[in-house]
Amino acid sequence: MRFLNSILGFIDRHRNLCKKCPDNIKGLCCHISEVIEGYNIILPNQPCKFLDLKTKTCTVHKERFKKNKRCTPIIVEIKDGGYPEGCAYLKHNSNLIKIPPKIHYETIKEKLSTIGKQTFELMNTSPQRFIIKY
Ligand code: SF4
Ligand code: SF4
Repeated sequence: MRFLNSILGFIDRHRNLCKKCPDNIKGLCCHISEVIEGYNIILPNQPCKFLDLKTKTCTVHKERFKKNKRCTPIIVEIKDGGYPEGCAYLKHNSNLIKIPPKIHYETIKEKLSTIGKQTFELMNTSPQRFIIKY
């Protein structure tokens, strides 16, 4: 019961923090990312198939966990690198982070090896069915 209360308290404190990403790519948490050479890199060409690319909102929000096995609750997303740097959900919960926040390829590409760059390009341009199962 205490655990349940703490989860409900967490959700209550942190709901509605989404600012729809003040970024050139909206809905970054709904884009697939891949950890390459220690960097959790956003694949800009690989949005979740349920993300409406015009409104940048989820088209299946109420049943998202059923429709997409990789879509998980806020706490899990924070721990597992589901949010990008700058997202308000991270700012308030940095103590929970296990996998680093998502980052843009452009910000770290000079630090990647040639194989790392090739891995990014391959994953970013592959048909989505090869890199994710819903
Ligand atoms: S990454 Fe954060 S700000 Fe951007 S859409 Fe997701 S929850 Fe909202
Ligand atoms: S199913 Fe999850 S990851 Fe996909 S668009 Fe909806 S909220 Fe985002």
